[in-house]
Amino acid sequence: MDYRRLIACHECDLLFRKPADVGARVASCTRCAAKLTALAGAGGSLDHICAVTLAALITFCIAQAFPVIELHANGMNSEATLIGAVRSLWSGNMRAVAAMVFCASILFPLIELSAFLYLLVPLRIGRLPPRFNRALRVVQLVRPWCMVEVFMLGVLVTIVKMVSIADVIAGPGLFAMAGLTGMMAVVASFDPGRLWAVHERLTSDRTTGIRWSRVGDRRERLMRPQPAREWTSSSASTARHAGLVCCHACGLVQAHAEGRTRQRCWRCGHPRHQRRPDSLTRTTSLLLAAVFTYIPANLLPIMHASSLGRSEDDTILGGVAYFWTSGDWPLAVVVFVASVLVPMLKLAVLTLLTLSARRESAWRPRECTALYRLVERIGPWSMLDVFVVTLTVTLVHFGSFAVITAGPAALAFAAVVILTMLASHQFDPRLIWDNVDAGKRRAPTNRRNAR
Ligand SMILES: [Zn+2]
Ligand SMILES: [Zn+2]
Repeated sequence: MDYRRLIACHECDLLFRKPADVGARVASCTRCAAKLTALAGAGGSLDHICAVTLAALITFCIAQAFPVIELHANGMNSEATLIGAVRSLWSGNMRAVAAMVFCASILFPLIELSAFLYLLVPLRIGRLPPRFNRALRVVQLVRPWCMVEVFMLGVLVTIVKMVSIADVIAGPGLFAMAGLTGMMAVVASFDPGRLWAVHERLTSDRTTGIRWSRVGDRRERLMRPQPAREWTSSSASTARHAGLVCCHACGLVQAHAEGRTRQRCWRCGHPRHQRRPDSLTRTTSLLLAAVFTYIPANLLPIMHASSLGRSEDDTILGGVAYFWTSGDWPLAVVVFVASVLVPMLKLAVLTLLTLSARRESAWRPRECTALYRLVERIGPWSMLDVFVVTLTVTLVHFGSFAVITAGPAALAFAAVVILTMLASHQFDPRLIWDNVDAGKRRAPTNRRNAR
């Protein structure tokens, strides 16, 4: 049986036969409504995405070279470029936050765009780039951590915040950032797993059944899988029940040898598991660390302002209250949602999902999966306040007239965002559906025993 005709849902493990041609339509799982990845026809064409990636890389360079915001107050000027903002945090003893902001807004977007272009240009002309696996894996690894769109919202919030105290001028970098945000959204809509279909087309004539693929620091022989056993839709509806496994990196469905540890995908060399190892233990640990970090993030000052001998500390909730009372209620709502509501929602949903999976509950699996998807999607938006603090600290340094520095809550808050994102990445949503499948299998046995 050719497993390449199969596709397994990443969120509920249900098996499907791949349609011959899905065109531009998006296929969704019938059980949990997740978008099915690795479909050859989904998304734009290679030419289209290649052009957008190249344009995004050029725009990225422009956004780095010019100031994003300029500030004029009492005859004094200041400006903020992306790298300048990171540098001012670094020199203000906020090195961990500076490193996070640098990675999320500069390094990871640059890596994603460069690696994507490295793959797309040769593939477009029918050549396979060296180290195809690694470059594709790099794109998949850095993608969830690219936060250009959140940084853009941070710039807009900072502008609205600064308008009342100084003259704010939008720099050329701001327009480049706006263009980059749109282009990054187009690039992010392209599933990198689709490139495996192009890879297979290019290598089909060289296929011998055995391939050499470099994995880690050694050359490892990766075999094509042998069919474990035939299955039919009535006897096996999930990949696990059929003795198959879906590779997390490339989406290939393949045979799984029960009991063998350290199994790797025969196509991309990525470690493969039927379920993420120690998923619940890791999620719980990260979640507990996030809860403990969330308390100082709200209690400690996130910014420290000193002006003409007077100094003042600002907490996150204090900032929201200030905007609300001074009439900037849209800004108060945006900051409250991104900095208070989203982290609380993430913590509550992940706690619910972890407890539900630990108690082997089959309660509302479709809704639980939708909540998990929501947490994954909104994860990076809590970084908004950290970006606003970064820009404010860079802009407001007018000697003895006014200086703003970052407070300890900025570090705690950035840590909460990273920890909750790591926790949601460690949670395996298929555990939700395992309880449903186990319940279904138990039900006929119970009925038979009752008779
Ligand atoms: Zn599904
Ligand atoms: Zn793979």
